[in-house]
Amino acid sequence: AEAAKIDQQASAIPHVLVFPLPVQGHITSMLKLAELLSLAGGGGIRVTFLNSDYNHKRLLQFSDAESRSQNYPGFRFETFDDGLPMDQLTKGEKVSELLGEMDSKTRPVFKNLLVQIQPPVTCVIGDGSLGFISDVSLEIGIPIIRFRTISPCFFWINFWLPEVIQAGELPIIGEEDMERLITKVPGMESFLRCRDLPGYCRAGTDDPTMIQVVKATRESSSPAYPLILNTFDDLDGPILARIRQRLPKTYTIGPAHEHLQSRLGTASSSSSLWKEEASCLTWLDAQPPGSVLYVNFGSITMMRRDQVIEFWEGLTGSKNRFLWVIRPGSVCSGEMADDVQMPEELVEGVEKGNLKVLVGWAPQEAVLGHEAVGGFLTHSGWNSTLESIVAGVPMICWPFFADQQVNSRFVSEVLKLGLDMKDVCDRRVVARMVNELMVERKEEFRRKAVEMARMAKESVEEGGSSYRNLELLIEDIKLMSS
Ligand code: UDP
Repeated sequence: AEAAKIDQQASAIPHVLVFPLPVQGHITSMLKLAELLSLAGGGGIRVTFLNSDYNHKRLLQFSDAESRSQNYPGFRFETFDDGLPMDQLTKGEKVSELLGEMDSKTRPVFKNLLVQIQPPVTCVIGDGSLGFISDVSLEIGIPIIRFRTISPCFFWINFWLPEVIQAGELPIIGEEDMERLITKVPGMESFLRCRDLPGYCRAGTDDPTMIQVVKATRESSSPAYPLILNTFDDLDGPILARIRQRLPKTYTIGPAHEHLQSRLGTASSSSSLWKEEASCLTWLDAQPPGSVLYVNFGSITMMRRDQVIEFWEGLTGSKNRFLWVIRPGSVCSGEMADDVQMPEELVEGVEKGNLKVLVGWAPQEAVLGHEAVGGFLTHSGWNSTLESIVAGVPMICWPFFADQQVNSRFVSEVLKLGLDMKDVCDRRVVARMVNELMVERKEEFRRKAVEMARMAKESVEEGGSSYRNLELLIEDIKLMSS
């Protein structure tokens, strides 16, 4: 009877399954959320993080993944064969293919897993970019919460795309149409241009990615189910107010990495799928405060050789100090560039005078937090943007795909935290913008960035908006699980 009682008590504890899209940026932010739930739930919630076999192997290889199960009460990993080829991780242009493939191959495997897993799952937190997670969960009768790893701006644009299309504001007719303002996204009428829409809008309105995204956004936008966004209220206030009118159960718990660090009281474990090279931190130790421009285009961006060379010439031509981290395999030849030779420094890496090129993977949070770093040339991925904001580092934005086009507009035009270089890749522009950010307008940008970093930190401290939202989310999970 005693054993049955213990069993009953155990099964009364909510069991949350967290399931991300299997790419770095999504794994990072959803893993931080999973850790936050375990930590703040204080043993009152079980959290299982679902990883593909392939990504889990990498996580174990390059980070101390297992420490989490020891550090957090009730936290564990579950791994499964997601039915995709082992090397699917990913090139930007392939993300839409990945979504399609997962829908057909991962959906059935996920369903099997979800009915078998013990103790039974009482609530699923699914990546909102994978519509099948909610389909399957609801089919089995398990309540669902969506987590969007993208920026709120981008979420809101996708939410309104059907109206934008209906009003005839899309398609975009050629290059000369790029500056036209889009008027049908409430709250963005004054700054959203065609140029700031994602790639699938630029290509035309019949791109299958667009149809998928629009569908997933509307489906994931039922007011009945909670939505989690990785942001904080002071950063996205006006858009969040509008989102909450439609979706009152919107929990902003970010910046997730800072939130976790603040609750832990120490740096959180890495979630890198590549080996982090600490050598760049040693190099930074020897540089003057605020002097280094950090250059990194994230985990998915692919660059053409001719583009890489424009950046190289612009960066060296600016005479500024810089640290450029190039992900191995991220440079492709592409048309126009087949006969372009890459400078050896960019193939092998180099460290001389005021510059360092590392072909590898950086411990980015630590790099951005280093006092030598004074600027960030970024592809404007949402995680990178939040990490830069927390560190108080202004940005030059060179967006590549998905939410990055609007993030860069938001950073430059709304937040005034940097410059937007989108659609241009020219050594003179690179040099000019680097000097503008690092020299001419340095103080102006720094002041803004320091102020926003302060607000980010306050939001995750006890009593801050993200702190409170996490508590409310946990209450909601308990309610949904009962
Ligand atoms: N990142 C890193 N080291 C690198 C490059 C990227 O740790 O050398 C991390 C970065 O800190 C961020 C994530 O990878 O957390 C990239 O996510 P983001 O949303 O910025 O862009 P994506 O890679 O999804 O395009």
